[in-house]
Amino acid sequence: MIVRQLRGALVRYLLLSDIHANLEALEASLDSAQGDYDQVLCLGDLVGYGPDPNAVIDRVRAVTRVVIRGNHDKACSNLTDAEDFNSLARFATEWTQQQLTVQNLDYLSGLPQGPLKIGEIQLVHGSPRDEDEYLSGPIEALPALRSSAAPLTFFGHTHVQGGFILTTTERFQVIRPPHGPGQSQHEIKLHPQACYLVNPGSVGQPRDGDWRAAFAIYDDARRAVEFRRVLYPLKTTQDKMLEAGLPEMLAMRLQLGR
Ligand code: ZN
Repeated sequence: MIVRQLRGALVRYLLLSDIHANLEALEASLDSAQGDYDQVLCLGDLVGYGPDPNAVIDRVRAVTRVVIRGNHDKACSNLTDAEDFNSLARFATEWTQQQLTVQNLDYLSGLPQGPLKIGEIQLVHGSPRDEDEYLSGPIEALPALRSSAAPLTFFGHTHVQGGFILTTTERFQVIRPPHGPGQSQHEIKLHPQACYLVNPGSVGQPRDGDWRAAFAIYDDARRAVEFRRVLYPLKTTQDKMLEAGLPEMLAMRLQLGR
């Protein structure tokens, strides 16, 4: 599937991934990015784990039509079973299935599979060759960079903000934005001939040790990616999870960023 680029415009894309039914984190990200982007692109996993699957789907549908599916979207809409999920993820999947409205179930099951090309960039949930593959390190990332159909690929799934570069001299590099208190944005400029795999991080369940919502903005004209982190009312999300009867461990991990 190919999406045509906004004609003649200099586009700034807001990249959202792995929202996982965390409405507070999604709202905080959209608020914080307001005015800094022209179009939203979503890399999948709208639901699973969090307490607000319907509200998150409604919100995403209101801000963009460019969304690819993630593994939790597939499991929660019965396209796959949750067999390879751990028991907590499976519990959350079954809980989500019970919550989803018929319209939102239809929407989730109809989401396209990546890669999705938009001009010079492509969107994938896991990796370009397998939507369920984790791009965690050089073993998976290097072959993906070598065979990439686009100079810039945005991916999610690992919930780790950053990515990988294959330089013009065939050197492999890791992108690791600094995080922690005081660090809320980090920009990288893209080299025209290098190849990039970029993960904006997870909006709703980061696993890189920083609990704040993660997202990125890609400025097509400046060829720059800005990684961002933003605070959100974590306690509200955790309370909703416990009230809904979701496992306490899932609420706990949000504050650990793991
Ligand atoms: Zn995910």
